Amino acid sequence: MYDYDLLVIGSANADLVIGVERRPGAGETVLGSDLAVHPGGKGANQAVAAARLGARTALLARVGDDAYGRLLLDSQKAAGVDTVGVLVGGAPTGVALITVDPSGDNSIVVSPGANGRLTPDDVRASGSLFQASRVVSTQLEIPLETVVEAVRSLAPGSRFVLNPSPPRPLPTEVLAACDPLIVNEHEAKVILGDAPAGDDPADWARVLLARGPRSVVVTLGADGALVASAEGVARVPSVRVDAVDTTGAGDAFTAALAWRLGQGDALAQAAAYAARVGAAAVTKAGAQESYPTPDEVAAL
Ligand code: ADP
Repeated sequence: MYDYDLLVIGSANADLVIGVERRPGAGETVLGSDLAVHPGGKGANQAVAAARLGARTALLARVGDDAYGRLLLDSQKAAGVDTVGVLVGGAPTGVALITVDPSGDNSIVVSPGANGRLTPDDVRASGSLFQASRVVSTQLEIPLETVVEAVRSLAPGSRFVLNPSPPRPLPTEVLAACDPLIVNEHEAKVILGDAPAGDDPADWARVLLARGPRSVVVTLGADGALVASAEGVARVPSVRVDAVDTTGAGDAFTAALAWRLGQGDALAQAAAYAARVGAAAVTKAGAQESYPTPDEVAAL
């Protein structure tokens, strides 16, 4: 009945990474390592993660008519993502300028570029993609009004998954559509705002659930995740691995969870699978480069 297991709406960025001994101060120049350019952005990452797992995946995004836009389109196609919904032009491709110091700390400047020009009209013009998709997943590296329009465009019976990153307060209409809302610790705290929720992530999950989502998932890095729904709160254990690079682990987790839910898994079951995918992703450097195949997930 559905052509796509998952439609991802979201950002596509080129990550430009330079290693430095130390960061320059104002007016100063420092020399760094060779430049590394990686396809990234939460939307592009989620789509690649899902497709690599075998999900029939489409991406709705906007890139510039430039070399980075072509790099992003190529990486999506190489993973098997349908790029019919990737719009080109209107602004330069989104870029993250990243410096990494010897201790591994990042400093990042993001130019949203074309991501900021993915509009509600673009969503309306892609109505056929929504009708064809079992699950729709998004994040907040695109305009909030575009996310609102995505919620309004959902096909009857399809499922909406949101990772509110970078976090900001959400309209009730969006919260009520989430099944689940997926947050890490930082995102949970921003969405909760002034609501008293204490130190226990299980309490955060309960308070978030009371805001309207049909379900909530709190990811806890090496400690796994929590799932919360009308049936209660359950802990999802992590898989013990030697972490090399956690970049993009949350995107892989979200994509895997969204896909498995569409395949009929219960929330805790889907989250357990997603935790294995997230764990596999941290065993390799990079984001998209680190995403596992089903065989690699099984071998964990
Ligand atoms: P984010 O990248 O959004 O901050 P997390 O760091 O919570 O998200 O990671 C998402 C999921 O990936 C976790 O819930 C967990 O299942 C898995 N994961 C992340 N880091 C590790 C780790 N060091 N060891 C095992 N699993 C991990």
